[in-house]
Amino acid sequence: MARFGTRTSALIKKVLVLSLPTLFFVYHIPYSIRFLEGLIPMGKCELSHADMKLDNAGDKGLNFGLNQNYLSSQSRTDVQTCTYWGAPIIWDGMFNPDVYDRTHTKDHTSVALTVFAVGRYLDVYLKDFLISAELHFMVGFPVTYYVFTDVPEKIPALKLASGRELKFMPVKRHSRWQDISMMRMKSIRDAIDSYIQHNHQYVFCMDVDQVFRGRFGTEALGDSVALLHAHYYHRFRRMWTYDRNPKSQAYMADSQGDFYYHAAVFGGSWQSVKQITDTCYRTIMEDKKNPVEALWHDESHLNKYFWKHKPSKVLSPEYCWDTSIGYRSDIHIARLLWQKKLSDRLRGTGS
Ligand code: UDP
Ligand code: MN
Repeated sequence: MARFGTRTSALIKKVLVLSLPTLFFVYHIPYSIRFLEGLIPMGKCELSHADMKLDNAGDKGLNFGLNQNYLSSQSRTDVQTCTYWGAPIIWDGMFNPDVYDRTHTKDHTSVALTVFAVGRYLDVYLKDFLISAELHFMVGFPVTYYVFTDVPEKIPALKLASGRELKFMPVKRHSRWQDISMMRMKSIRDAIDSYIQHNHQYVFCMDVDQVFRGRFGTEALGDSVALLHAHYYHRFRRMWTYDRNPKSQAYMADSQGDFYYHAAVFGGSWQSVKQITDTCYRTIMEDKKNPVEALWHDESHLNKYFWKHKPSKVLSPEYCWDTSIGYRSDIHIARLLWQKKLSDRLRGTGS
């Protein structure tokens, strides 16, 4: 009896010892999977410094962590620091912010930041977006916030730093949130034509449901700039959510695509952003005629565009991070964070 008792309690202990970590893992499956996903290595930057296609003097000082000579506290060897076509992928630790700021001060760089806050999105997100942008986005440089909205009377009155201003741009409120999102392409293109090209060399286009938490500075400027999507930069390419419907202009075959880019942030010179937004608008309208809608709307069209026209600079997910992913050793600083999503009910006109 006593022996049976001892054996039973030993067995119970064993089961407990084994099952507790399993239960812990199962309970945290989404986090566990994301953590494990983070261990899948990225590609490597395999070009020499001389083979990079770099935009400006600031970029020439980038440290790609390619060989022993470059190894220092200022290098990243844990992540992919360039694309195969020679565009840098910007990670914390690769650059000296002062070098970029000096170059752009000399060039009298001025930046347009377009942001849409239609319907409820204005109440919920715009103020935090703008206040945090004043603290972190291109600090010390002239910036104009182009706020596209249907409720201008609700734009918060904020005191902006000197040289910075806010310009309201009226937009129609489409009833479907998918159209609000997609039609940004047309509004941005038109704003470049009417104002931006006369006042700024560079344009960034961003979702409003995010908040700046760290420097988002002149190192992010380039001729055409795309952002690695935080959820996909460690995932296998077959998991990327490109549009797979051959009837859509955004269609990508299994073998196509370099990275999965996030449409919440893109930018470049006004000439490039005009081309990006004009092309995406045209392919979106072509789909409407057919009629078909790409899986992830404007993001699918943007991914197709950047596959056909390679970006000259790629931003790491440090430039648009989702904290729900959990810990990743390669995210040294989250410069811009996703905000909590509004439910579909609150998007568009709520229908
Ligand atoms: N948006 C808006 N009002 C809406 C729906 C969308 O102003 O009712 C704008 C807003 O700038 C938002 C962007 O379109 O950040 C993209 O939509 P959302 O952020 O909901 O898309 P997701 O990030 O989920 O792809
Ligand atoms: Mn968003």
